[in-house]
Amino acid sequence: HAKKTGRNRLAEYVPEMTLRTQRRIRLERELRRALEAGGLEVHYQPQFDCGTEQLVGAEALMRWRHPEQGFISPAEFIPVAEDSGLIVALGEWVLLQACAEGARWVHMAEQAGTPPPSIAVNVSARQLREKGFLDVVMRTLAATGLPATQLELELTESMLMEDVESAVQFMRDARNNGIRLSIDDFGTGYSSLAYLQRFPINQLKINRSFTCSLPNDGTTIVSAVISLARDFQLAVVAEGVESREQLEWLRRAGCTYAQGYLLGKPMPAEALRQLIEAQRQPVH
Ligand code: C2E
Ligand code: MG
Ligand code: MG
Ligand code: MG
Repeated sequence: HAKKTGRNRLAEYVPEMTLRTQRRIRLERELRRALEAGGLEVHYQPQFDCGTEQLVGAEALMRWRHPEQGFISPAEFIPVAEDSGLIVALGEWVLLQACAEGARWVHMAEQAGTPPPSIAVNVSARQLREKGFLDVVMRTLAATGLPATQLELELTESMLMEDVESAVQFMRDARNNGIRLSIDDFGTGYSSLAYLQRFPINQLKINRSFTCSLPNDGTTIVSAVISLARDFQLAVVAEGVESREQLEWLRRAGCTYAQGYLLGKPMPAEALRQLIEAQRQPVH
């Protein structure tokens, strides 16, 4: 009897897995087509100085408008693209869009005599593993005219821990070229403080899961990350800031920058340019 139940359970489980696999294969094919046919977009989420609330940068976030299924979240399609290797082509495409857009911001800021917002781009583990990745980045900077100091690459702890030696080498080379580096989703991975000291980074990004529980829970972890950053002379960005109360708490705790729905959702390039223009108008 037990055997029969087991087999039945397996019989129910297998088609379910097949459906998921089929969906992944279909998604991968459609994603490849979207990349070729212009079905992908890059949105930009603004980042602000916690103290002055001035716009200081923006993060490039991939968007896929699927013809039948509507908007598909990067949380769903990035893993599919990672598995198939398509993320390398996608990542290069995002980098090119983002650097070209960042170069426009430099021109806009030059005209107004204000500091240009920097552009942050997420890097996937697969991209970092590619030997020529830094060359790709440098060529993209040259092609778009974006100064290296305006570009920030977001890496995660887990991808850095995959191969610490090569990661450190990549980070050193990137920094020597003027590129800035952040650790994304800091605190959700498992890197130790000893490694943090070895990583030549500029900034830590506090994950939304910690920010969202402020100012009730989460204060211990967020305070610890902020003081850690201070000791290592790193900037800190709090992600997922959704309330005034959270922003105020972060400002008092000494957090450098804030990113979240309270201050601005990810938006099309044109909307972010308007935000840059609006910042420029003196407030009376
Ligand atoms: P991430 O890099 O940690 O990006 C932050 C995510 O938090 C974004 O989700 C953003 O829309 C969301 N977020 C920001 N503020 C708030 C807030 O106040 N409330 C809420 N509820 N959410 C907020 P998104 O755009 O869905 O991206 C999810 C993840 O997908 C990103 O997490 C990143 O890991 C990955 N991703 C997105 N674009 C790219 C890309 O071009 N390349 C790579 N490799 N990964 C990407
Ligand atoms: Mg990110
Ligand atoms: Mg992330
Ligand atoms: Mg993050």
